[in-house]
Amino acid sequence: MKSVDKARKIFRRIVSSEQYKYSILIYSIATVHIILVALFCYLHILPLIIFNILSVIIYLSCARAIHYECKLIRIFYIIYVEIVAHSFVSTICIGWRFGFPQYIIALIPFGYYMCHSLIAGKRKYLTATLLGIAGFFSYIGCRMISLFSGPVYETDDSPVLEFIIYGFNSVCTFIFLLFFSLIFVYEMHSATNKLRNQNEILEKLASTDPLTGLYNRRSMQIFLNHALESHSDFCILMCDIDNFKKINDTYGHDFGDEVLKCVATIIQEHVKDDDYVCRWGGEEILILSNNSTLNQACQKAETIRRNIANNIFYHGEKIIHCSLTIGVASHQAGSSVEDTITNADANLYFGKRNGKNRVIS
Ligand code: GH3
Ligand code: MG
Ligand code: MG
Repeated sequence: MKSVDKARKIFRRIVSSEQYKYSILIYSIATVHIILVALFCYLHILPLIIFNILSVIIYLSCARAIHYECKLIRIFYIIYVEIVAHSFVSTICIGWRFGFPQYIIALIPFGYYMCHSLIAGKRKYLTATLLGIAGFFSYIGCRMISLFSGPVYETDDSPVLEFIIYGFNSVCTFIFLLFFSLIFVYEMHSATNKLRNQNEILEKLASTDPLTGLYNRRSMQIFLNHALESHSDFCILMCDIDNFKKINDTYGHDFGDEVLKCVATIIQEHVKDDDYVCRWGGEEILILSNNSTLNQACQKAETIRRNIANNIFYHGEKIIHCSLTIGVASHQAGSSVEDTITNADANLYFGKRNGKNRVIS
């Protein structure tokens, strides 16, 4: 389990850095060419020895260029041309049977991946498709050459040699495809997760009030409409902090914000899971009490009022008390939500005119 975690960590590290990812790719291809130099030395095929030595030099230069932040798409074009040219030269020199053109097939998904990640706009699809078509014709071209003219160099006819070289080329092609498929799926997965997280953040930002964390008025309209459509009994509790202007004027706006946040937290602690609390405006908080009678809503309002009144707010060493007036109204079948809110508001202002710190229904 530990080694799986370690492998995953290494893979993540490789994938998250462009420099790492492409350096590993380029050093791997250079290694394949070094092995091929040895192979062609064994087979005494001079053009392929020279070609592969040149390829190693090209790839090592590309690796250095990545280090100096050269444009990656240019490096991809160099890889593309080198692989296609190598397929042609090897087919001309030793024929089709060793499977060198297989690398061209791997270039097609690799090309789409590279163009998609490195080219902006619609041009990426066109470039990748054109490279794919060019790859297809190069593959067929190699086959044609092998059909219409035999290999320039005679090689050992033994099936073992064919099996070893063909197998080597196949394994390299498969590893290459596997590696990039894995990276592709991983990056797609990460992008989806990132998008989902950003959506959640945006949704939260759009539906809540940044200061108190309560729902905003816009979201409350949706909940109110749901409550109305479900034809259930619900009540509206309209809460307003008493003498809040005085708190602001005496202790400052920042302290006023702290009081508002604290009041919001206390209210949230005393509502049911199916209730919704929103910041209706300035220091007014609206509670949608779902599935409750007027009596139950008044009890809830009284608990909230009592808890706020008993709460101690500290301004430095100074102890400050704060209170809430709450107007409660139950929704009457057939009337609009606006009517219920107006009733709760009227009750609230009745409470304000009659001494504050009270629940009126
Ligand atoms: P009443 O008991 O009649 O409700 O008196 P009040 O002073 O609370 O009412 P009033 O409507 O006169 O004042 C509300 C104040 O709330 C005015 C405004 O500056 C303050 N306020 C509104 N929003 C915020 C806020 O986000 N933070 C702070 N600190 N104050 C706010
Ligand atoms: Mg007030
Ligand atoms: Mg007010």
